[in-house]
Amino acid sequence: MLETLTIRTQRTTASRLEHLDPDHIEFGKIFSDHMFAVDYRDGEWQTPQIVPYGDMAVSPANSALHYGQAIFEGMKAYKNAEGHIALFRPTDNLHRLNASAERMCMPPLPEELFMQGLTQLIRLDAAWVPNTPGSALYIRPFMFATDGFIGVRPSESYRFIIFTCPVGLYYNKPLRVRFEETYVRSAEGGAGFAKNAGNYGAAMYPTKLAQQEGFHQLIWTDASEHRYVEESGTMNAVFIIDGKIITPALSTSILDGITRRSILQLARDWGLTVEERKVSATEIMAAQAAGTLQEAFGVGTAATIAPIAVIGYQGHEYELPTPGPDSFAQRMGAALNAIRTGTAPDEHGWMVEV
Ligand code: PMP
Repeated sequence: MLETLTIRTQRTTASRLEHLDPDHIEFGKIFSDHMFAVDYRDGEWQTPQIVPYGDMAVSPANSALHYGQAIFEGMKAYKNAEGHIALFRPTDNLHRLNASAERMCMPPLPEELFMQGLTQLIRLDAAWVPNTPGSALYIRPFMFATDGFIGVRPSESYRFIIFTCPVGLYYNKPLRVRFEETYVRSAEGGAGFAKNAGNYGAAMYPTKLAQQEGFHQLIWTDASEHRYVEESGTMNAVFIIDGKIITPALSTSILDGITRRSILQLARDWGLTVEERKVSATEIMAAQAAGTLQEAFGVGTAATIAPIAVIGYQGHEYELPTPGPDSFAQRMGAALNAIRTGTAPDEHGWMVEV
């Protein structure tokens, strides 16, 4: 039962809140005062705690460090004009966390532990949730193995932590992306659908090469033919061709993005045609040449919608039209923002007040 979960809470005696300048928040560097932590041992989750955010000790033989049994989530809470704080689709994040946990042989996290941990932590650090336009509290739940044992086998003990950091308005600079035709993020049957640490570590080198060529990120393609779009950097990819919303169908190599899911739902609500299917680089480039590629963007929690301005393909660069105020990207970004900040009705019940 949600009401009965006791979380041992140790409040900080030295809040860092006064160092937060809500108008100049640097992403990912300033952490709220507290974190939620719970250990898994002897086959069960132990007493959860909220403690001051800070460093912790782990064994050098910790198997997360050696074999990558580490998973995470990324989500946000929003403060509305009245100061109420609400989470966006938090149980979707929990279900994805538990899908990642299963793939990585880690224990599932019970819903009440996740939801109570989130709500009690955010209530305690409510003053850290910014309310300037476009700002939010970024929330990072994660779980890692804690056995000090270097044999290759699933760990028997784990720690689950949630910490948060305020984030300011995300400037969606028009993206320069290129199709990746050498490296892969993930293959069918791999772990691309999971949010495990290794997926991100392995993506850094190909991304660095693309950045050295002047691109911001890659459009990942499939592992067997480098032909079909997978994702765009750490976002799901969406294209509008001839008025239709087209996005790669989910598979074991694609992360099931919660922003993607929300955008497709609203697009269907608006009566638009949505196609979840294989979409090839040649189809996109042919549409670009024919003038029917109207919009292309990445979608994810960090940016919501990041329009693509330039696509690199086989050594050439192709420009896309700049999305105007009537573009799908702009209208959808505004619609989602309105639901999150309570200025539009939450018809799908996505917001959960803390
Ligand atoms: N793909 C990848 C690889 C990601 O890391 C993310 C960010 N979690 C996404 C897509 C978008 O997912 P979401 O909309 O849930 O943030």
